[in-house]
Amino acid sequence: MEIKTLDQNSRKKIRKIVGKQYCSDQPEDLHLYSYDAMNRRYLPDMVAHPVDENEISEILRLANAEGFAVVPRGAGTGMTGGSLAVAGGLVVNTDRLNRILEVDEGNMTAWVESGVINGVLQDEVEKVGLFFPPAPSSMNISTLGGNAAENASGLRAVKYGVTRDYVMALEVVLPTGEIINTGSAAAKSVTGYDLTRLLVGSEGTLGIITKLLLRLLSRPESVRTLMAVFPEIEAASVTVAKIMASRVTPSTLEFMDRSAIRCVEDYLEPGLSDEAAALLLIEVDGDEVSVDQQASILQEICESAGALYVKKAGDESEAESLWKARHSLSPAIMKIRPLKINEDVVVPRMKIPELVMGIEMIAAERNINIVGFGHAGDGNVHANILVDPADKDEMAQVDGALKDLFKLVVSLDGSISGEHGIGIAKAPYMGMELSAESMELMRRIKMAFDPNNILNPYKTFDFEPSTKSREISRSYE
Ligand SMILES: Cc1cc2nc3c(=O)[nH]c(=O)nc-3n(C[C@H](O)[C@H](O)[C@H](O)COP(=O)(O)OP(=O)(O)OC[C@H]3O[C@@H](n4cnc5c(N)ncnc54)[C@H](O)[C@@H]3O)c2cc1C
Repeated sequence: MEIKTLDQNSRKKIRKIVGKQYCSDQPEDLHLYSYDAMNRRYLPDMVAHPVDENEISEILRLANAEGFAVVPRGAGTGMTGGSLAVAGGLVVNTDRLNRILEVDEGNMTAWVESGVINGVLQDEVEKVGLFFPPAPSSMNISTLGGNAAENASGLRAVKYGVTRDYVMALEVVLPTGEIINTGSAAAKSVTGYDLTRLLVGSEGTLGIITKLLLRLLSRPESVRTLMAVFPEIEAASVTVAKIMASRVTPSTLEFMDRSAIRCVEDYLEPGLSDEAAALLLIEVDGDEVSVDQQASILQEICESAGALYVKKAGDESEAESLWKARHSLSPAIMKIRPLKINEDVVVPRMKIPELVMGIEMIAAERNINIVGFGHAGDGNVHANILVDPADKDEMAQVDGALKDLFKLVVSLDGSISGEHGIGIAKAPYMGMELSAESMELMRRIKMAFDPNNILNPYKTFDFEPSTKSREISRSYE
């Protein structure tokens, strides 16, 4: 079915479903929903803020009958354009689905609506000594529905895993309007296909998540923070391998390469060391006694693997000062070049040295800046291509550098996206990692859920990068 723009008749029906005050087709409102954290802007025809699954169901039934696109949107912090209305249509914002419905201390679970902000849930469960491990850096602004749709992860993934590992059950409105429940509140269930795991990470293409049942853990009593600075990337990589092979699993194991260190040195002058070529930031958590033991073991591993020095934080403010270099990276990077293209590639963690050296080679061959940092513990390196949109020579290298990077990652048995998803940003490169047969099967799954292709069309598959019909601007070509 061909995707149509929203005509006046459909707009009238949407106003009736959600109420006039909860939808708009005024340009000043539409512009607010035309962008996310990617570099492109697409104007929707209308935005609606439904209050529950029933209103969303009515909207999707109408979309199927009348052939307009519906684009789910949480907080719009996605990095790959997933919430952009590339074919126009209706943006369905989940901001009114914002209730924590239940925190069950006995079962250690929480039922939430999908528009709840991750950090709001974190604060709520911490009050009763519980803990929701998935914590993307955007946790204070992104929604749990968006986290599930992207299968987001963050600093703690090395020990605790990703969002998918904490979603037990979902309430979802299918693209055709039916409301279904997936998964189970029981600790385990093997009844039928695991639709929960399929929907988590489906980037808003298979259904609109309205409620989630999340697994919680006991909050760790204490945290210890260490920073280790290395003269060579190889020594840091060997350390990562040794740490992961030891009996101590850090809750965080972050890595910064030479370019990232130089960036923060220039920006902050934290005096890391002229010889510093790699840096590891490590956290361990647990009870008071065990965190000290774990920290000592890891300090010894770092030192014996050739660290120039290791700093251990004695209290929270010292820990914060160790984190300063990592937290300053984003603003520091923007001082080098105004445009940052952030690729969240991931490789098996033993292959990080090959990835980092390969990235250095790509940067040298193409004469551009690429700064690498990320989650060494799970092999997820953020390769930031830094360019100036006004510099034609640099801009001419971007597409080639991306292809070189993805080719390198695939050759290392890695993946082109560790946490940000495909959206429209990486759709043109999916075939570099997945076989034609796998992609065809995914298309058939999409068709089974969404026969008229009205839910978030052109995401993940078949996005034509030159598509400009609904585009209003992009910060680079
Ligand atoms: C400063 C910053 C730091 C970040 N750090 C991290 C990080 O550490 N780790 C990480 O993984 N990501 C990170 N991100 C990316 C982003 O925050 C995550 O992808 C997040 O999960 C998106 O949530 P959102 O609510 O903003 O979703 P949106 O951006 O609104 O949407 C993202 C996708 O999910 C779909 N979607 C949204 N809600 C629903 C729903 N209820 N049902 C079905 N589909 C839905 C949308 O259609 C879209 O495809 C960061 C982004 C920023 C800007």
